[in-house]
Amino acid sequence: MEINGKREFELLEKMSFVRMGGTAEEFKAAEILMEEIRSIGLEPALEAFEIEDADLVKGELEVLEPFNKKYTVTAYKLSESTPEEGLIAPFYYAENLTAADLENSKGKIVLVNGYLSLDMYKKLLKAGAVGFVTMSGTMIETEENSDLFTRTLRDTLRKFGNMPGANIRVTDAFDIVANGATKVKLTAINTPVTRTSHNITVTIKGTEKPEEVVSFGGHYDSVEFSKGAHDNAAGSVINMEIARYFVENPPKRTVQIMWYGSEEMGLFGSKAWVAAHEDELKNHLCMINTDMAGVVIGYDVARVIASKEATAHCDAFMRRHGYNVGVTQDIYSSDSIPFADKGVPAVNFVRFGHHIGGTLIHCRYDIKEHLSAEALAKTTKFVLGYGVELVESVVFPFERVVPSEMVEKVDKYLMKKELAELDKK
Ligand SMILES: [Zn+2]
Repeated sequence: MEINGKREFELLEKMSFVRMGGTAEEFKAAEILMEEIRSIGLEPALEAFEIEDADLVKGELEVLEPFNKKYTVTAYKLSESTPEEGLIAPFYYAENLTAADLENSKGKIVLVNGYLSLDMYKKLLKAGAVGFVTMSGTMIETEENSDLFTRTLRDTLRKFGNMPGANIRVTDAFDIVANGATKVKLTAINTPVTRTSHNITVTIKGTEKPEEVVSFGGHYDSVEFSKGAHDNAAGSVINMEIARYFVENPPKRTVQIMWYGSEEMGLFGSKAWVAAHEDELKNHLCMINTDMAGVVIGYDVARVIASKEATAHCDAFMRRHGYNVGVTQDIYSSDSIPFADKGVPAVNFVRFGHHIGGTLIHCRYDIKEHLSAEALAKTTKFVLGYGVELVESVVFPFERVVPSEMVEKVDKYLMKKELAELDKK
């Protein structure tokens, strides 16, 4: 079968809309994928799972002293809401939360640099802050050319405690700090809701070793404001092309192809799939995940969450065929993590975009215009080639092991140590 980048790009164009986990738009994307799956003669399995989310009600940060000005913020989803009339407290810019900054944070609404890690959040709780504000965006943005993002206080953070939180544009944070704000009123209100998201799976039974499974996966949801062409309609359409190949060329081992929902909210789709199919995972020899592809200006990598032998094998495959892929043994923040966590070796294919400053994913600029049919086909060729190598091997090329150095990284990513300490308390 000839890989058809144009066909891939056409499917990508059909999915070119914002598809946040658990929304009607995400389900519309699922229906588009299922229609395509049926058109190539396969029957999709649609599996629903529930996710925790929130509706935003109000977000405002008003500086009360020494000047008066209101700024738009977004409430952190699932953070504790402030009273309706707002929370009034002294304001403090705690930068990266050094020990000295933490001494000054008690009883205050604290602004921190950038993103809120678990480590930062724990420090804020311990310091006795009454609310937090994070910032996003860049200093060169304007309200016309950018969006104010919504963040979620993820369950791993909420387990340690909850407090009101909000996100603000970095340009507004600059205004507040430069003008020496000392007292603010934060109104950040959100209502928790449960939504339904979906995974789609197709199974093509192996002709010789049906009990052995190689799976291909990738998420099809996107974040707010993002049409998610690069991240990850591209991986979704690559996996469709791979499905076509195995319909035309029945595989020796069983091939499963999966499109995950709600990856962007915390790998919810792949976590749900692994939880619902745990007894089957012993038959899974490898999971091949594609998350980000298709950009014209960029570079391809493979991140192998498996043994050194598996990594060397993948690298040797790329060299033998002359593919430009940087292969390393490492983890990657995507749907491969829940599989690796259960002992399934995983290989992540990623075509990163090359750009100077600022990200072009997870925002309104992740658009199909930055991608091409040729670039999609280029990545498809070696993802499929590598997959065929595994699926058709007489003896599987590497053992089904996730070595300790990778387990350590996966555990760290999943914050297992911190969560275990919490359980002990
Ligand atoms: Zn992604």
